[in-house]
Amino acid sequence: MARGQQKIQSQQKAAEKSAKLKKAAGHTAADQKKAAMAALKSSCVLCKSLMPDPKTYKQHFENKHPKNELPAELKDI
Ligand SMILES: [Zn+2]
Repeated sequence: MARGQQKIQSQQKAAEKSAKLKKAAGHTAADQKKAAMAALKSSCVLCKSLMPDPKTYKQHFENKHPKNELPAELKDI
């Protein structure tokens, strides 16, 4: 009986451990996604070109789409 209980306990511990690992892994994946989103600051709303930073985006917008109004988030840059 004692051995059986030990087995159940160790199974429970293993389940807890894997649940924690899964949670940690999910958290890491979300963080990586966030980091990836932050790295790709933005993409042009008109031509969908990826912009490495807002300054480049603003320059791109002024050069490529001079007839379009500058997006609000670029006006302060
Ligand atoms: Zn563009």
